[in-house]
Amino acid sequence: MTPSGRGTPPTLVQRPQALHELAPGLALARGGPGRALNVYLLGDIVLDAGVRWSRRRLARQLAGRQLTAHVLTHAHFDHAGSSAWLCRSLGVPLWCGAGDAAAISSGRVDSHGSPLVNRLQRTLAPVAAHPVSRTLGEGDLVAGFEVLEVPGHSPGALAFWRARDRVLVCGDVVANFGLHPARPRLVLAPAALSSDYAQNRRSAARLAALRPRLACFGHGFAVTDPGRFAAALDQLVPTSP
Ligand SMILES: [Zn+2]
Repeated sequence: MTPSGRGTPPTLVQRPQALHELAPGLALARGGPGRALNVYLLGDIVLDAGVRWSRRRLARQLAGRQLTAHVLTHAHFDHAGSSAWLCRSLGVPLWCGAGDAAAISSGRVDSHGSPLVNRLQRTLAPVAAHPVSRTLGEGDLVAGFEVLEVPGHSPGALAFWRARDRVLVCGDVVANFGLHPARPRLVLAPAALSSDYAQNRRSAARLAALRPRLACFGHGFAVTDPGRFAAALDQLVPTSP
């Protein structure tokens, strides 16, 4: 373990905290309150890292675990905000989609169509630059999950799919804004928050066609009813089968 930076950084040398097990080899950690900023453990790999203020929360949850890499679904401030700290603290490499590698390795993380909003965001919620050790592409395997390239919300957005038990972690291709686990309300990011809105809709249609038994999001409760996930996405993206 190495010191994690300025101020009074949290450490990762405490006792492990129990995490919510969603499926074998898939656990939920939290980068914020409730399901606002979901972070996942795929085996011994940390997927996403919340905002820059998620450090203490993540330190408590990840302490004492043997973790081997940190992966991003996409390089936005609410997923990569604590990535540099996490990689330094754990001494693990950073992996992400090729289309997002320049953003995270430079710290120029834009998640909005407006340059003004991006400038404001970089001031209020800056993302520390961190080198990318490996870029992931379609068909790569991460802790038993197959990488799917699902661009549109960001150029290098990735989802993670395990066909044997139909488990999907889809990042922000679609989010669940439902306030109750039994009442999902799936939403697509608006055009202003998409690098290519039409492409994100195509990516969502692709995920709907998978009919996942368990669908996990960057924001919101997981959906455990495959029909419900597909039906909700079919309404959002009528071109899906
Ligand atoms: Zn997000």
